[in-house]
Amino acid sequence: MVVLTEEIRAARSGSRTETARQIWRRSSTRDDVTTPVRTVLASMAPGAERCMYCGDNQGTDIDHHEPLARNPLRTFDWLNHLLACSHCNSHHKRDRFPVDGEGRPLLIDPSAEDPFDHLLLSLSVGEYRPLTEKGARSIEVFGLNRPILARGRRQAFGVVVMCLRQWRAAESGTGPYEPDVLVQIIREQPCADVCQAMLRQADSPGTAVVFRKVPEIVPILRDPVVRSALLR
Ligand SMILES: [Zn+2]
Repeated sequence: MVVLTEEIRAARSGSRTETARQIWRRSSTRDDVTTPVRTVLASMAPGAERCMYCGDNQGTDIDHHEPLARNPLRTFDWLNHLLACSHCNSHHKRDRFPVDGEGRPLLIDPSAEDPFDHLLLSLSVGEYRPLTEKGARSIEVFGLNRPILARGRRQAFGVVVMCLRQWRAAESGTGPYEPDVLVQIIREQPCADVCQAMLRQADSPGTAVVFRKVPEIVPILRDPVVRSALLR
């Protein structure tokens, strides 16, 4: 990848972005770089190879977190690669990359930061609320509160609740499912961010309000076995 970066650096500064795009599209680049990188990113992605932005669709594209158009020299920077679905990549994120007055990114990098430092997921409505400016810009640029995602998150909440109830039954020897199967269902379903938010909010001051309709879930979410199996 260093060789390819040097090839971009060798181009005139005004044509580096176009050079980077050409190299990225080469068949040899696909074989030597993008296919192996995609395989590694898929193993890091939430759920079953889900998009690192929306968590809902299959991650099909390698997204450059800092876009080629802004910094072509990071085209082959491993730390700049994320797995995204084509919808997030082409319709939301695109070439947008807001920065603050000192040039620091105002977008959450989901591979390097904990999104929950910047975002609070309202589990009842399935929408994110910003905790920081970076969170606010990320909601806007990634389109995190689009209605179809909010709906998917509400569904995911219901699936996690059902699986955890069954998990408790399985632990006491009365349920029809194996505990491992239930953990696997939770881990692989879309919108894995919902389960992560539930695990965090089960341990926060507002727990009683957040889980007022399903209070029996709270002790299960606090169970060390459940937390070690599910918490990322
Ligand atoms: Zn997506």
